[in-house]
Amino acid sequence: MPLSVLILGGTTEASALARKIAGDPRLAPILSLAGRTTNPQPQPIPIRAGGFGGIAGLVTFLRREAIEAVVDATHPYADQMSAHAVAACRETDIPLASLVRAEWPRRADDQWQVVADTETAARALGDTPRRVFLSLGRQELHVFATAPQHHYLARLIERPEQETLPPDLRLLQARGPFDRIAEERLLRDERIDVLVSKNAGGMATYAKIEAARALGLPVIMIARPHKPAGAVVPDVDACVQWLHGLAPRGV
Ligand code: NAP
Repeated sequence: MPLSVLILGGTTEASALARKIAGDPRLAPILSLAGRTTNPQPQPIPIRAGGFGGIAGLVTFLRREAIEAVVDATHPYADQMSAHAVAACRETDIPLASLVRAEWPRRADDQWQVVADTETAARALGDTPRRVFLSLGRQELHVFATAPQHHYLARLIERPEQETLPPDLRLLQARGPFDRIAEERLLRDERIDVLVSKNAGGMATYAKIEAARALGLPVIMIARPHKPAGAVVPDVDACVQWLHGLAPRGV
């Protein structure tokens, strides 16, 4: 029997892992999405969507589906899902690998102000009205309603549902990856003064950081949260190796 694997996804890496192991006779994977995006990208392996219902719900799912290995490939800022994965895997004694993307290193010519969270980022924009590029999830936009003096350009995959949004907000619906030339053009055309970003790591959204550097623009960088992890694997290939180490041979 192939190894039954749950991948916690919603990221480029999770999709890359799904592509890599689709059709692998030694593995029977299922990809889990939080269900926030109404039109997720098609995947080459079975998917399930929506929260599990906390740690207890995840434990129930793992037992019901007879999962034998879990890969946490969620975003570096999805700390709650990771905490639940660590706790549920400990309770069920199921091996857990965590695909952890390296942070973007700060270069000497980057003008970053690192802040602890989104609320501090909104305050750090200051009192003087500025033109701000927000590349954050739609759950976080409402925080910038506390700094209504600024003009915001927010890039999102989907429109936000919250009622409380900054008054001077323009939405740009787009899904990465993005390239540096286009990002520079966007920042220039929109006369952006400052960016607010998470330190997502990876290449899919790095172009805006390179563009800000090239244009000499400041970036308010929201620091990563503490994200509990299992066995850390740095990339998709290492993750496949880890899975093969657990999978039965000669399936
Ligand atoms: P989070 O705060 O860590 O998790 C909140 C709750 O959402 C979890 O307790 C869980 O609900 C559910 N959940 C999260 N990821 C899930 C998954 N892959 N499958 C099933 N349920 C999941 O997560 P988040 O920051 O809101 O991120 C949600 C999703 O978007 C994740 O899949 C993440 O990889 C992706 N994403 C996040 C960001 C970001 O900046 N945070 C950026 C890009 C992509 P229950 O407790 O009910 O199980």
